[in-house]
Amino acid sequence: MGNFFSEVIALDARFHTANRVADPALLEPVTRQLVQRLMGTSQQMGVAVMIYETYRSQQRQQDLFNNGASRLRTVGVHHYGLACDIVRSVGGEPSWKGDFSFLGQLAQNCGLIWGGDWGAPHIHHSFIDSVHVQRCTVARQGDLFAGLWYPDENYNPCDDSQNLLLASRKLPETASGKSASAARRA
Ligand SMILES: [Zn+2]
Repeated sequence: MGNFFSEVIALDARFHTANRVADPALLEPVTRQLVQRLMGTSQQMGVAVMIYETYRSQQRQQDLFNNGASRLRTVGVHHYGLACDIVRSVGGEPSWKGDFSFLGQLAQNCGLIWGGDWGAPHIHHSFIDSVHVQRCTVARQGDLFAGLWYPDENYNPCDDSQNLLLASRKLPETASGKSASAARRA
């Protein structure tokens, strides 16, 4: 049973690279299509954006974790070609300045989870990654990382009941002031 991760990413020469990769070719095809649609809509709205990162190796994930830029130590959704970081493009250079909530709206319209609210806008998240989108709910990440699950082409994380389940489970925890574990950089 193959998927894009095992058939393309794992065989790519950049699989172990410690460098940042911004090549859309290493995004799972549906994710790539949705990211391109999102970016096209953004450009039409007059907000110039660019891809900052697509695939991320385990080595780079570890480096980011050590620097405190990620909560995930060795593996993240980027590693599976299911996540993309999209930043503003200012004179062709990446920029994190300004409000990125437009990405949240566009992501939802495209069927992607936004790192600004992790698909659960009504709960408090201790970790916000407002330039990040992914085609996988936080609830599915465990199975994804364990190799037990990979989205098929019809999967839409915004319609995934596992996501709603997680959101409802997290509510009491948030109310008591504890941080939601859902809020982590993927
Ligand atoms: Zn990201």
